[in-house]
Amino acid sequence: MGSAAALGPYRRFESCEKKICLTFDDGPDKRNTPEILDVLSEYGVKATFFVIGSNAEGNLPLLRRELEEGHEIGNHTYSHPHLKGITEEALRGEILKTENILFRLEEYRPRLFRPPEGVYSGTVAKTLEELDYLPILWTVDTQDWRHLSAQKIADTVLRNTKPGSIILCHDYISGKGHTAEALKIFLPELKKQGYTFVTVSEMIPPDPANGE
Ligand SMILES: [Zn+2]
Repeated sequence: MGSAAALGPYRRFESCEKKICLTFDDGPDKRNTPEILDVLSEYGVKATFFVIGSNAEGNLPLLRRELEEGHEIGNHTYSHPHLKGITEEALRGEILKTENILFRLEEYRPRLFRPPEGVYSGTVAKTLEELDYLPILWTVDTQDWRHLSAQKIADTVLRNTKPGSIILCHDYISGKGHTAEALKIFLPELKKQGYTFVTVSEMIPPDPANGE
């Protein structure tokens, strides 16, 4: 494999078509994730879930459902540590522990990594390159974890989304979130505007080092 991390981090994609990526962090969660999956399925939208290993452990059926319904799963560490000042060894442990859970699940090997809170340092870059992961950040931050109203979340998305945008939402929020409700507002509107939703991997340009 080439130096994959040299291609990132991705904050947005170049897209001359109206393609965008919807992403969900911090799950899976027994309450929010099924609700969100139901709405995505209702609108025929594919998304990318950046899961936390410690949440994945007790929720394998939800991960399986995500894969079966055509979504992509990425790695969001095992315990969601703040990455500023983390050692390479500790970060490698965080990533591999989650990778092993996903592999036990269905021999699924994620290639995408989203750093908690978007912290992207030299240590993170080097570790991801060694483990052959691509770092994925975001364009549009919905701040849905702040318990904003569904309308407010939807307004942020509708105001800021452009072709190639990566939209950040959460499928685990402490307490009751409004993300699933917000999807019911902004998904039909973006579809009406001609946007299509693809997984993050579908947007990544081929790596010339791999001769693709
Ligand atoms: Zn997170």
